[in-house]
Parts: sequence; C-alpha cells; structure tokens
Amino acid sequence: MILIDVWSDFTASHRCAEGELHEHDWEVVATFRAPAYTDARIYRLALDTLLAGWEWTELPPELDWSEDICAAVMKLTDCVDVRVTRQGQRIAVRLA
Ligand SMILES: [Zn+2]
Repeated sequence: MILIDVWSDFTASHRCAEGELHEHDWEVVATFRAPAYTDARIYRLALDTLLAGWEWTELPPELDWSEDICAAVMKLTDCVDVRVTRQGQRIAVRLA
C-alpha cells in the first residue's frame, strides 16, 4: 500500500469556543491511499481546490472546529488521514 501526503494551508475566520469572530492560519496535511506510481498532484489539486473555497472566508458554523475541517477533508476520495494545525497556537487535531 502506498500512502501519499499532501499539504496546503488557508486563512479564514471563525467563532470557536469563545464565540468571538477571529482569524487563523490553518495548515492541512492529508494522507491518501494510492496505487503505486500515482501522480500525487491529483491529491494536491483535490486538497487545494477544497481549501480554496474556504480561503479568506468566515467559516460556516459546521466548520467551526478543527475536527469539522478534518471531517470535511476526509471526504476527499481515497483520503485516510487528516491533520489540521493552527500554527500560531501550536495545536493540531488529527482524524484517522
Ligand atoms: Zn479560533
């Protein structure tokens, strides 16, 4: 089994536990189960396309938590593991 990691990032605002609107830079690493010799750029494109829809937006309530972002990324085809990191806070959430 081949596992391919791709990563990207986005900046958006949300309301987390405190309820006040604020901004984060999120880094997302997604792992895909792939056949051998797969062009990894297809996975990078899938991740980039998803994150581009969130860039510079106010995330909807269903994406308020890093766990929610993980779950949304995990819906990408062949994705088996996701880690979402808020670099400024040194917090990472992982869904596997
Ligand atoms: Zn926050």
